[in-house]
Amino acid sequence: MGDADKLLSDLNDRQREAVTTLTTPTAILAGAGSGKTRVLTRRIAWLAAEGVIGPRHVLAVTFTRKAAGELSDRLGSLGVRRAVTSGTFHGLALGQLRRRWRDRGEAVPALLERKSKILAPLLGGGPSVGAEAAEVAGEIEWAKARLVAPCGYEAAVTAAGRATPRPAGEIASLYDRYETEKSRRGVVDFDDLLWRLADALENDAEFAAVIRWRHRHLFVDEFQDVNPAQFRLIRLWLGDRRDLCVVGDDDQAVYGFTGADAGYLVHFARHFPGAGVVRLEENYRSTPQVLAAAHAVLPGGSRQRKPLRPTLPDGPIPTVAAYASDRDEAESVARALQAAHQPGAPWSGSAVLYRTNAQSAPLEAALRAAGVPYRVRGAARFLDRPAVAAALEELRRAAGVAPGLPLNAHLAGLLEWAEEAGGGDQATRDRREHVDALVRLGHDYIAAEEGDGTAAGFVAYLVTVLAEEDPTRTDAVELLTFHKAKGLEWPTVFVTGLERGLVPIAYAETPAALAEERRLLYVALTRAEQELHLSWAQRRTLGGREMTRQASPYLTSIEAALAAFGPDGDGDWQAAVAAERARLARARAAAGRDRAMVGAAADPRVLAVLVEWRKTLARASGVPAQVIFHDATLAAVAEAKPTDRAALMALPGLGPIKVERYGDELLALVARSSA
Ligand code: ATP
Ligand code: MG
Repeated sequence: MGDADKLLSDLNDRQREAVTTLTTPTAILAGAGSGKTRVLTRRIAWLAAEGVIGPRHVLAVTFTRKAAGELSDRLGSLGVRRAVTSGTFHGLALGQLRRRWRDRGEAVPALLERKSKILAPLLGGGPSVGAEAAEVAGEIEWAKARLVAPCGYEAAVTAAGRATPRPAGEIASLYDRYETEKSRRGVVDFDDLLWRLADALENDAEFAAVIRWRHRHLFVDEFQDVNPAQFRLIRLWLGDRRDLCVVGDDDQAVYGFTGADAGYLVHFARHFPGAGVVRLEENYRSTPQVLAAAHAVLPGGSRQRKPLRPTLPDGPIPTVAAYASDRDEAESVARALQAAHQPGAPWSGSAVLYRTNAQSAPLEAALRAAGVPYRVRGAARFLDRPAVAAALEELRRAAGVAPGLPLNAHLAGLLEWAEEAGGGDQATRDRREHVDALVRLGHDYIAAEEGDGTAAGFVAYLVTVLAEEDPTRTDAVELLTFHKAKGLEWPTVFVTGLERGLVPIAYAETPAALAEERRLLYVALTRAEQELHLSWAQRRTLGGREMTRQASPYLTSIEAALAAFGPDGDGDWQAAVAAERARLARARAAAGRDRAMVGAAADPRVLAVLVEWRKTLARASGVPAQVIFHDATLAAVAEAKPTDRAALMALPGLGPIKVERYGDELLALVARSSA
């Protein structure tokens, strides 16, 4: 078998088609765990092995280092390691801009790590300035992702019907001053990287030609989460060419709140006429039981979904547990992790997921107490850790002393420095571990800069590349939010805090926001390969206050699906979920009918007779009229005009006791007055 054939041997027919199709652009649309990321990396490797594309001319937007790692492994086995350029939108934009700045001899602006550094002084201090700055930063990011400048902010929020944390005019003015202050200081923020690059590509034909010559084949993973600013960049990277391949799943669109638009994926052929679309239908990640739980939470709505076909054999039924407190929940997770830790089952085979960053606190405490090694993604930033800060300090010092030395040599020096520390204590091990990770990243960076690179450039690279990830490699349980778990997988997954207010999050009020919450839970549940444990707590401390909690409303359909696998179930989880949905819909309709009925379609003649009758009855028995029959109940009767007891029973407010007592009389009144 040739190299190229080997790349196809462990794919199904559809996947093979997606890898080998020569139609461009192409979109690969499929559910979680169907092999989209695998197909994307395989396609690059296969096209390279077949000589259709030169790997040096590939630009791949991937969101996880794992995907990037898989890509370089595949290419490595073909002998073209490190040839492909891959990274996140921001990381790639930074690389291209740096080269441009360098080529033009322009000063390289520093990268602003946090908007609050500029916003806090503009907001004028005060005890809650941190939170206020974060709110305003959120609005600025919202605007920038939609290509909205300060002068257009007010109109944009009005058009979007967006609730803003303070008056829109005020935010527009802060946004404007933020931009001015940023250029005064000569710094750029993350969002600017995308604008700046797009502007340069649009206005500088020569630059665009160089970039397009270099990057001829574009690949984008997780395309459902692309926002207008990123889509603009993709278009500009492409120019008038068609060599684009994207993969995504609109059921996993979870960044609508930041401006992402799954429409680019769903209507791909509209954006790129003549594009090919391949759909994958089998799931290779999760057991049928995990998949059933996950599918049970997807919005039932308009599109008739065909769930992915599981290919894995049956596994354990996911568990659902309620705990008295968040502490109990965390301790129970810690115990379960300890019990599962055996030879052949590393800590890193498990992950604990939650909706908001703040929820990690009790979990971290419990894992620490139980001696379970863990790593929190996206929280304590890698660059802020003392061991990393010390190493970077050392790197800067060495680069200052010997500026002529290539970065490569400095990285080697850094390894020696870490070794010199000697000793076997925790701090030394920590230092070595972090320096190892830094040096690995240093080599990635040098490759990205094509052998060049400086210590300062390296730090800027780290800031963009590591926005969300932890590059250390010790065996540890991962703790992360649902959002950060996208694209990843573990044999065992704990999904915690399944409570109203968290899942769905309290501020999700519109149908669109609620649908996004469901998809987010779908993302979380589909991370599990074998074991899935769901839990919630009846009391939780959030923001320093202990609160009573209720189970997430999404748990009912999950439990219905899981019951189908239990001793009394028939395995038909889809039927069970459908029945549960129908029950909920009926309950909602009934509740709606109760409210909407009052006076709505009631026959006024019948209603008048019934009200009069109730008045007489109330006087005779000495109780208020509403106690005998609620207005809404009489209105319901006057609308439905029932002709028998069964029809009476179906109406709101009419149970067996009332029907026994007043049924015949009511039926007679209705018959007489509506005749
Ligand atoms: P997500 O939507 O969560 O990003 P995905 O569609 O990108 O998922 P992958 O991560 O590519 O899915 O694949 C899920 C898992 O299934 C991976 O472990 C992958 O290696 C495996 N896999 C994919 N296709 C096959 C196959 N044909 N045979 C065996 N394993 C496969
Ligand atoms: Mg993927």
